[in-house]
Amino acid sequence: MSKQICDKCGLPVDLCICKEIAKEQQVVNVTTAKRRFGKIATLITGIDEKEVDLKELSKELKSKCACGGTVKDGCVELQGNHREEVKKVLGVMGYTLEEGE
Ligand SMILES: [Zn+2]
Repeated sequence: MSKQICDKCGLPVDLCICKEIAKEQQVVNVTTAKRRFGKIATLITGIDEKEVDLKELSKELKSKCACGGTVKDGCVELQGNHREEVKKVLGVMGYTLEEGE
């Protein structure tokens, strides 16, 4: 059985920290926006979709926030206002969150 090697760092995949580094390098911005019919959406932007699987991330966020959502143009959009919750979850996952607002 051959071990899978990460083609970025050359380490076995189970030792690879490329994903962790990629997360730390992302400066994520969490905002809310008004959508049709006065509905609020939570937008997660600033994540490089080449480094992070946004579909996987949105799945995780959707289950954590128990809401629906989509991925579009490198932006994860969740239905409803989950700003604080999303920030908490992303922080725990190791993302750097944009300060301010
Ligand atoms: Zn690696």
